[in-house]
Amino acid sequence: MVLAGLGRQLNTALNSFSKASVVDEKTLDALLKEISKALLESDINVKLVGNLRNHVKTRALKEIKEANASTNHQKSKQIVHKAIFDQLVALVDPQEDPYKPTKGKTNIIMAVGLQGAGKTTSCTKLAVHYQKKGFKVALVCADTFRAGAFDQLKQNATKAKIPFYGSYTETDPVAISVAGVQQFKKSKFDVIIVDTSGRHKQEEDLFEEMVMISQAVKPQMTVLVMDGAMGQAAESQASAFKQSSDFGAIIVTKMDGHAKGGGAISAVAATQTPIIFIGTGENLHDIDTFRPRPFVQQLLG
Ligand code: GDP
Repeated sequence: MVLAGLGRQLNTALNSFSKASVVDEKTLDALLKEISKALLESDINVKLVGNLRNHVKTRALKEIKEANASTNHQKSKQIVHKAIFDQLVALVDPQEDPYKPTKGKTNIIMAVGLQGAGKTTSCTKLAVHYQKKGFKVALVCADTFRAGAFDQLKQNATKAKIPFYGSYTETDPVAISVAGVQQFKKSKFDVIIVDTSGRHKQEEDLFEEMVMISQAVKPQMTVLVMDGAMGQAAESQASAFKQSSDFGAIIVTKMDGHAKGGGAISAVAATQTPIIFIGTGENLHDIDTFRPRPFVQQLLG
């Protein structure tokens, strides 16, 4: 995940802090103000930013006191850096292990999310990812709402040489999901990925449809696909999806562009669900595994 703007702002704040001649409550407050501003500008939820600020301040002051480091500025700065690093990691790490498919077993993955979030693209990317790891993978298109969704999935799947299932005539997404999953289960596929409809907003019937598909195919993992450019609305969107589909993982898309990503980070905290992959382009191989610590390391340069 790039988040270049945020990284730059955080670095500027930390650099000017590291040049400070003293480390006291005043310089710490000034640093935290700049860091909070950068996080807010990246669309990270205001409550989360407030919490981060308080945690860093309390912990850093306590540790500086305990280490008798108030006159050792180098040591104090290290303490502050570490507190900030850990809190940024905590923001993107709910400490929940996502489901990991196992070979020789049926692993059903269902993708949910708003229309245009990048579900269909991400489903094929996921399929390619697991295929590269030696899984026998198939795709099911249960998006009967968006015209062209099946053609899109078919095109992607054909390009990636991944078996797929869908229908031009069946309009019931539950019937399609069940038929597709049954067919691939019979043929002993390890990973079966079901792409569902996404409407423009959190419409009631979208949620009902997701619940019905989920009850019918009983996925081992449901993934929320979320646009990285989504701002402050991301948190409530994610919470609404969590209530109805109880997803266990998040894929954040379009992180190759100018997406700030902060909305998705807020969604992690709101739903205590881990990000597993980041979409970094329109190509089927443009998917990166997400790991909280390296992500923050990269962010802080
Ligand atoms: P769906 O309606 O949720 O199924 O969304 P689609 O998979 O059709 O994606 C919507 C648009 O976003 C398409 O033009 C995709 O090529 C594009 N897209 C999806 N993921 C990414 C990504 O990670 N980066 C970029 N740049 N574009 C993406």
